[in-house]
Amino acid sequence: MAEPRILIVEDEEALAQLLQYNLDREGYKTIRAADGEEAMLLADEESPDLVILDWMLPKLSGIEVCRRLRANRKTRNTPIIILTARAEETDRIRGLDTGADDYLVKPISMTELAARVRAVLRRVRPGLAEDMVVHGDITLDRVAHRVRRADYEIHLGPTEFRLLDHLMQNPRRVFSREQLLDSVWGADIYVEARTVDVHVGRLRKALMQGGQPDPVRTVRSAGYSLDLES
Ligand code: CA
Repeated sequence: MAEPRILIVEDEEALAQLLQYNLDREGYKTIRAADGEEAMLLADEESPDLVILDWMLPKLSGIEVCRRLRANRKTRNTPIIILTARAEETDRIRGLDTGADDYLVKPISMTELAARVRAVLRRVRPGLAEDMVVHGDITLDRVAHRVRRADYEIHLGPTEFRLLDHLMQNPRRVFSREQLLDSVWGADIYVEARTVDVHVGRLRKALMQGGQPDPVRTVRSAGYSLDLES
């Protein structure tokens, strides 16, 4: 399945970069627009699966972009998440009234953003954000919070579950300990890098309890990847 494409519309360069970096890492394909007019052009040309839209933009405001996307047959059903610096109830309601699917108030937590993106995609395009992920003989059920490998039910702690979920979204891709810390634990939490090794160790042990091969590859001085084919 092709990875979902996300159009990021944000004029603050640093925030746009941060959003792009984090969404790329979640396995999405991202494109960026720095103002409302560029956003309209890219939405039309690229048919993104989701638009992340800043409220305060040069040329066309976010609310106007939202209105126009909804009026265009091609983008009528494209989900939109609005980013706003204001937390006022009226702005939130106005955004949702204009046709946005969800909103986030700045400063934005990347963990929260990833969760909202996944939820919106799952709601509007079930095929894009599956409830079940499969890699080799491992199945992870996000709704029931269950993991199976071959005929075995695997019991994982919450951290191991999130770790496996993250690795399964991008099988064979190597993640550094720092990347795993940011994605699984969250960038705001201080955890030592070797904590990752401990949880990877637990995850391995749990996944190998039926005597199957080790699905986690350790790449010396680089990190870890989930790889059942090598
Ligand atoms: Ca802005």
